[in-house]
Amino acid sequence: MASPVLHARPPVPSAAVPLPPRRTRLFALPEVRWAALSAAAFLAALPLDLAGAPAWAWGPLYALCYAAGGWEPGREGLRALRGKSLDVDLLMVVAAIGAAAIGQFLDGGLLIVIFAVSGALEALATRRTADSVRGLLDLAPAKAARVANGSEEQVDVAALRVGDTVLVRPGERLPADGTVLDGASDVDQATITGEPLPAPKTPGDQVFAGTLNGTGALRVRVGKDAADSVIARIVAMVEEASATKAPTQLFIERIEQRYSVGVVVATLALFSLPLAFGAPFTETLLRAMTFMIVASPCAVVLATMPPLLSAIANAGRHGVLVKSAVVMERLGAVDRVALDKTGTLTAGTPRVAEVRVLPGCSMAEAEILALAAAAEAPSEHPLARAVVAAAREQGLPIAAATGFSSEPGLGVRALVDGRLVRVGRPRAPHTPAGGAGEQGRGPAEARRTPEEEGRTTVVVDVEGAPVAVLVLADRLRDGAASAVAALARLSGTAPVLLTGDNEAAARHVAAGTGITDVRAGLLPEDKVEAVRAWERAGQRTLFVGDGVNDAPALAAAHGGVAMGRAGSDLALETADAIVVRDELATVPAVVALSRRARALVVQNLVIAGVCIGALVIWDLAGHLPLPLGVAGHEGSTVLVGLNGLRLLRESAWRKASV
Ligand code: ADP
Ligand code: MG
Repeated sequence: MASPVLHARPPVPSAAVPLPPRRTRLFALPEVRWAALSAAAFLAALPLDLAGAPAWAWGPLYALCYAAGGWEPGREGLRALRGKSLDVDLLMVVAAIGAAAIGQFLDGGLLIVIFAVSGALEALATRRTADSVRGLLDLAPAKAARVANGSEEQVDVAALRVGDTVLVRPGERLPADGTVLDGASDVDQATITGEPLPAPKTPGDQVFAGTLNGTGALRVRVGKDAADSVIARIVAMVEEASATKAPTQLFIERIEQRYSVGVVVATLALFSLPLAFGAPFTETLLRAMTFMIVASPCAVVLATMPPLLSAIANAGRHGVLVKSAVVMERLGAVDRVALDKTGTLTAGTPRVAEVRVLPGCSMAEAEILALAAAAEAPSEHPLARAVVAAAREQGLPIAAATGFSSEPGLGVRALVDGRLVRVGRPRAPHTPAGGAGEQGRGPAEARRTPEEEGRTTVVVDVEGAPVAVLVLADRLRDGAASAVAALARLSGTAPVLLTGDNEAAARHVAAGTGITDVRAGLLPEDKVEAVRAWERAGQRTLFVGDGVNDAPALAAAHGGVAMGRAGSDLALETADAIVVRDELATVPAVVALSRRARALVVQNLVIAGVCIGALVIWDLAGHLPLPLGVAGHEGSTVLVGLNGLRLLRESAWRKASV
């Protein structure tokens, strides 16, 4: 035995390679530069103007202020107008020019500056959110040390192909997803899995691009192209999310068009009608301009997306990828939660606890296990991985199977050494499995079947005849019970367990989590039917699952959440949100966060509506000075925008988690 001291490695100081800071600098954004120039010109012109200096002194400064702040929005607005849509930005620019036209340079300039600054703030907030996601990608190095024919060369990570071998030195970041070929080290995977402790890695273990190698050197076989790595997929998904629009937002944008046209028509009326009745020109124009500004729906437009996108970014930081703003808006609306068992409520890392050779079978235990492992090797199912691992542990040879096929929720079949091997669900799910020599068992308590102890049993058939029963034991995920309780509270209904496993095993697991409604022995289509039945009854359902067999139900549900690490690719693709770290506790947290985002959207719409209403009434009924109107309008817009960004804060997540 080697001394344990030899294996002890010094802990990896995780600060050894700091994360690359990549926040956009303030002045890197053109919006910020133009807004700053516009504001500077305004501030230079203001004292000259107020002190009564001649127009040639402050005129050019005002012109610069207008041009710097109004050029981009004006151009954008004209382009939109050519596409037959009315941009609110254009209204602002027109109002400023209108003010200047009647000699109110100061008022118009103020409008332009406030408008440009709030635009810059908005751009900055959007950019920062995108940065925090993009920053993830920078974790993967650009170059990798590829080893071929005994020599090493530095290549671009993009040039790595599946099957290449790369060398990862101590302290380097992993360039690709793959499997360790040789070497031993601790790898800090916090960026992907959130685990605070470095994970020990030895040959055969999975490693991920962007994670940080500790003190050992590793040779890694590349398992995925750079674009398919876990980290690249995470980034792609988040970027996709911010490109979609929530239904509320789409609705608002449709209304915004008509509303804006209405504002322009009303402005024209407000200007021409009093003039026709002999009202003074300047005053009438000012009032009409003020009306146009304060009635513009800027704050309404900004009410929806910032809360939802902030919530997405916050959830992402805590290991939950919400694929779109649509989903973020939806998740909080659920009133029924259903969960899968294997891999979702349980850790999805079952172990073969026992191989029970059936009476009358002449094959040895090892032979059966080797056949089963060969048939299971191509499968992605957690049970399959357990069978393969058990065979490996015993040092059994695993033959290459042919003609592999799998039936989600039932099992697998394949030809191994010319024999048809089937591994899967017992045909009659309620007959106790494992009849081997159990006649003379002890007292009643000891006669509990493996299923009653929450264990899963699968049957191995060779050439159509059952030869053995494999008993697999999995453990409940940490925090499963409290997550279930939180989901029950949030949805207002008792969560339901939907599983393909047998009833007794399902009941046992359910009991450990506080679930009482158990539906066992379900095929994938039965899970879908259960979800559809709730949806038909008007219950918006959240389904949490991990397997290929869960994918249809994930798609059918109002909201589908997949477990990221244990989850099959199909489930990850189909789900609306992915729990990257496989922490069940984050599922209720995201539902609660979505609720808060929805509440903020409503709050924002109310703030926007009240501000617009009050300013419009003030302008129509009395006399609202233009600068005050501008300040009120832009103020409410910025307020609404910042209100949404509150969900970016760490405390928003903490509040959602309790
Ligand atoms: P759950 O719905 O709890 O996640 P599944 O639907 O994935 O479970 O599986 C249901 C049952 O089907 C399992 O308990 C097992 O008996 C059988 N099964 C499915 N896939 C496999 C496989 N690859 N190997 C062995 N048995 C399997
Ligand atoms: Mg499952």
